[in-house]
This record gives sequence, structure tokens and C-alpha cells, in this order.
Amino acid sequence: MQDFFSTAFLESIPPALRDVPQQIRSQTGIALQVQEIDESFARCNPAFANAAAVLDIDHVQQAITIRVAPAALSPRILSHELIHLKRNVVESVPKFFPIGTASDAEIQSIYLVENALEHLFVVPEEIALHPESEAHWAQDYQALVERSKHNGFALCLHWFFLRIALPNCGAVAEACAAHLNALQDPYLIRVAEYLGRTLHAQRPDKLAMQHTLLKAIDPALRTHIAIGRFAIRDGKLVTERLKDGQWCSE
Ligand SMILES: [Zn+2]
Repeated sequence: MQDFFSTAFLESIPPALRDVPQQIRSQTGIALQVQEIDESFARCNPAFANAAAVLDIDHVQQAITIRVAPAALSPRILSHELIHLKRNVVESVPKFFPIGTASDAEIQSIYLVENALEHLFVVPEEIALHPESEAHWAQDYQALVERSKHNGFALCLHWFFLRIALPNCGAVAEACAAHLNALQDPYLIRVAEYLGRTLHAQRPDKLAMQHTLLKAIDPALRTHIAIGRFAIRDGKLVTERLKDGQWCSE
């Protein structure tokens, strides 16, 4: 990280987060790499072409990379990726993973749902460290809610995110509720309300929250989702899968 960012830039990241890469390196030998989101990466990963930063954890290659768009880079963007990294690798939090049978479109949907859930933790932590983040997230969600106005399930995801992670951004939540109402589907409104209420009450028990969300997911997609986690075992980064309530190595 020191090779890519200036000392002044790194010093604007809170020390506890700045130490996460070194902590992982001492436990696994994996040195965090930082690369630019360049044209070839954007071509191969169109979903991330316009992202400010992307975290890639590859247990097969024993590699961890943060890719950044230099123009969009700020201390809060780097903190955001380091919070994801800390939760994934140091804290081994459970995640949704696509299983082998999932199509590309299903894989994208599963990552979207996982990100929506994980952001209920990452975004409040980011705002606590960088208070200016709240306004950025409110602006992003205003645009996202508009873009999703015909997609009921996406609006449900946005609704619980706004209620839990951005409780001070009432105007955006109201816009989201108005789009949900306009779809005139009473089932959808009940699901959105249920998710907002239940996920809020279950936080920070992510596993319980995952089970709640799984109940609301289209059964056709649900069959392609597994619950797993990254873990450090014998000095290596591995993945484990939850089977019948037990964590098993893969
Ligand atoms: Zn994120």
C-alpha cells in the first residue's frame, strides 16, 4: 500500500484500518496489492467499469487486490475497502456466495444482495470515520432509487439500506417508498417493511440477517446461493461453507 499511496494520504486513514493489511500479511503472508482500474480490467469486468474502488479476495491464488480509479480516489474510498477487507478476512464474517451452477446474471444478483447486506455494517462504520460520507451516500442512493423505480426487489434492498444505514436521509427514503407504492403490489410493500424491521432488530447478527433475506429471495435464485466465509487456517487464506449449521472447509 505504501508504494501506491503517499504517506500523507495514508495518514488520513484511521490507524486501526491502516494496519489491517499488515495484520493479514503477518497471518497469511499475503501482501495487499493496489492496482488501477484500467481499460483492460473495465472491459473484463463491465459491472465495475465505473466503480471508484473494488476489493478482490482470491483464496485460490492467495492474493488480495484493491483496484482503484485514481480520479475517484479519496481517503474515505480507501477506508471503505479496508473495512470490507477487515470484516471479510480478519473478522471472517459470513457471506453469500454463488454455487457452481449459478449463471453470470445470477452471480451478479447474488453479489448485489451480499453487498446490500454487508453495506449495513460497512457504511455506518465509514460514516463514523469520515462524516462527509453521509452526504455522498445520500446522493448516490437518490440516483440509484430513481434508476431502480421499476424493479421491486431492488427497491426493497434500497429501502432497508436507507432505513438502517442512512437514517438521517428521510427525503431519499420517502422517494423510495413512493416508487414502491407506485408498483401497487401489496406483497412487495409487506416484504420491504418486514426486511426493514427484522434486519434492523437482528443487527449485528449477520447470519440471522442472511436467513431473513434468504426467505425474501426468489426461490429460483435462492437455490444458487450458499453461505460461506473466508478464514485463516494454518497460515493460509481459505473459504469455508455452512452446511447443516456447521462450518466445513471446501
Ligand atoms: Zn462496499
